[in-house]
Amino acid sequence: MQDQRIGESELPFDPPLALEGALGDDIEIIPDDASIGAIANRTYDGVAISTIRPESGRAHLVYVSENLAELLGMRPDQLLGRNPGVLFSENTPDAQMEAISRIVEQGLQARVRLDLQHASMADVAVEAAFLALPTTTSDGTGWPYYLSLFRATSPWPRPEALLAEQRDLLESLVHGRDLADVLVQAAERIEEQLKGASCWLGLTDPTGRLEPTVVGDQRDDLVEAVLDYLTESSQDTTHVRLRSEDLPLEIGMELQSYGIHALWVYPISGAGRRGHGVMVVAHNDRDAPHPAEQQLLEQIIRMIAVSAERALTEASLAHQNLHDSLTQLPNRALILDRLEQAVARLGRESQNLAVLLVDLDRFKNFNDTRGAEAGDEVLIELSMRLRRSVRLGDTVGRIGGDQFLVLCVAMNDEADASSMAERIVRSVAEPFELSNGTSVTTTASVGIVMVDAPGSSPAQIIGSAESALGSAIEAGRGGYALFEEGLQQRVVIRHEVEQALHLALTEDELVLHYQPVVEIKSGRMVGAEALIRWDRPGHGLLSPASFIEIAEETGLIVPVGAWVIDEACRQISKWPKQPDGLRPVISVNLSAKQLAEESLLVTVVSALDRHRINPNRLGFEVTESMRVEDIEAAISTLEKLSGLGCRLAIDDFGIGYATLDYLRRFSMADTIKIDRSFVNGLGKSREDSAIVSASIALARSLGLSVVAEGVETVEQFDALTELGCDIAQGYLLARPVTVDEALALWHKNQLIEPTAERRPDGQ
Ligand code: C2E
Ligand code: CA
Ligand code: CA
Repeated sequence: MQDQRIGESELPFDPPLALEGALGDDIEIIPDDASIGAIANRTYDGVAISTIRPESGRAHLVYVSENLAELLGMRPDQLLGRNPGVLFSENTPDAQMEAISRIVEQGLQARVRLDLQHASMADVAVEAAFLALPTTTSDGTGWPYYLSLFRATSPWPRPEALLAEQRDLLESLVHGRDLADVLVQAAERIEEQLKGASCWLGLTDPTGRLEPTVVGDQRDDLVEAVLDYLTESSQDTTHVRLRSEDLPLEIGMELQSYGIHALWVYPISGAGRRGHGVMVVAHNDRDAPHPAEQQLLEQIIRMIAVSAERALTEASLAHQNLHDSLTQLPNRALILDRLEQAVARLGRESQNLAVLLVDLDRFKNFNDTRGAEAGDEVLIELSMRLRRSVRLGDTVGRIGGDQFLVLCVAMNDEADASSMAERIVRSVAEPFELSNGTSVTTTASVGIVMVDAPGSSPAQIIGSAESALGSAIEAGRGGYALFEEGLQQRVVIRHEVEQALHLALTEDELVLHYQPVVEIKSGRMVGAEALIRWDRPGHGLLSPASFIEIAEETGLIVPVGAWVIDEACRQISKWPKQPDGLRPVISVNLSAKQLAEESLLVTVVSALDRHRINPNRLGFEVTESMRVEDIEAAISTLEKLSGLGCRLAIDDFGIGYATLDYLRRFSMADTIKIDRSFVNGLGKSREDSAIVSASIALARSLGLSVVAEGVETVEQFDALTELGCDIAQGYLLARPVTVDEALALWHKNQLIEPTAERRPDGQ
């Protein structure tokens, strides 16, 4: 029997070997032999082996591959030992089964198209091949085994189709389309891909009810009834599936009258535990989606969640924009607006306005030693004390970390304003009881400006208040000072920094540090970002946070930026290539102000020439949070830079902040840098993870490469590997370092073991 020919003899494995050890009790099960499992899973959508015991005449399944079970919506162990007939659709004609048996018994291979039966009772169309296997004993007295191979032919969404869907939806996101449009599009896609399905979407309204938003071709009131039922019954259920008979009678009957057999419910979840709504797929005949359909639905629901989250962010931005989230006081924007209005009213009413700038003394110190939580408690308590100190009609707002602005309308004179300041200083000096049982004391300094006529801008008034505050602090903190015309303290400081920065340029006080960027798949350093530092005599090494803004405001950023570009090029020219020819790419940051200047191009071209550098080794980073007015001017300069062959990255990128439109405008960019705040939330915050993964998918679909900034942990690095991110930058790989240290890292080149090498099993 060993050499018996079996039909077309195209088995992907050696049958006797596969069936070794298959003898035994009345019912035998072949262990999931790696050779069968692996080949079957790769070659076919499903494999089963069955046998018949001559004594009992009982046919049963001895092997069911994982993927066959999955195709049928079951686990292998739910099928093993059962009659092979359970695999086939109830509608399979008996005559067909008999014909198959006859062919197989003659030692031939039967190939037919037929339907299998899914756990949901739905039919799964397959091409099947059946054949008998030789027996396992050499004398031929063993039992016959039958091998069945299946290949699915049902019109399931194929991977290409899925990708196209995802791309379409992503494009809607890129183009900043309304949530409503994205929802309609999503529903249409689902209905196109899933035969017999109708897709409804409901969004959660402020009271927590699900509001029908997209209802397909159903009647509104039916969808509304279903959503109401879901609101009441299964608010926090994930992925429930309801058959029409499981629903309240009225709804169930109504659904049946539309031929709807089951509802698949998918929550649209957002950041934290917030639910944005649900997607309901109403299906004509199936209880559950097929695995490929499930995958499509899950992808779409994720896109919807990102879009919904963004819409929500935009909507709440209006409120957030005006109130400080910690203290609920009016924030800087709102208080400045109130200030402007109060100043405008001054002409009509004959009273004065007093503006008090309150600053907690050494609050940063307090935060550092006591922790930010204690700091927050103090700020909250302080905001309440300030509110209690002022009169009806006065306004308190928070304009900075530990700075508050008090607007006192209808003030008579400086004496009254001073006693108000006095009152505030005293109320701050009272001990603060913290929730951890300790009590702390602190002091505040107050700068006062009296305004008696319209005409001054809020910025001027704040400037004067800051200058008065400076005097109060100088006088020993814990007190107040009135602004005196001509003092212009703040302006003096600004002027001082400006002068010092000028000197810094000629005195060689500016330094570039370099932070390596690493290719994720190889773990190799491929370049670095140049980050400026100021080695200011008497002040130590200053971070850009303390002077870039002043440089931008005074226009000094233009010569400073030119220095950065030239210095970076000088350094690049000295970095050797790697043995395999890899050369580093250095990127520098550009401010909006630089982009508005024609001279930038001259600066770049002459730096490239002077240091003989190929433009493709120099990159520029432009922040996504650039102001709209600046964009138009920036675009043409950026186009020219990219025309030179330089690389261009959009810095601080993050979907969800209404800035996707910029991506279209910055179409000359080749890279996006995902903001470190999102990378930080990877794996911790669903929203951040969704944003990072959507940003990566988005970049892919637009052919951009993706850099993740601020990678601090191995977990984040591995998550980025999985999401297909190209480049990583962050403390995990290297901090910004001096040029010599950066060069040493470049020589070392491999800065981290790639995920795959650390985890060869791909877990
Ligand atoms: P940026 O362009 O977003 O630069 C990245 C900043 O993130 C750097 O701060 C870097 O030290 C920091 N960083 C890098 N990896 C990590 C990490 O894993 N965790 C955390 N928490 N931080 C990380 P830096 O050097 O203080 O620069 C701050 C900003 O100053 C830069 O932000 C950039 O906008 C600006 N800047 C720096 N150099 C220049 C320059 O030459 N010209 C202009 N116009 N702006 C510059
Ligand atoms: Ca940057
Ligand atoms: Ca950045």
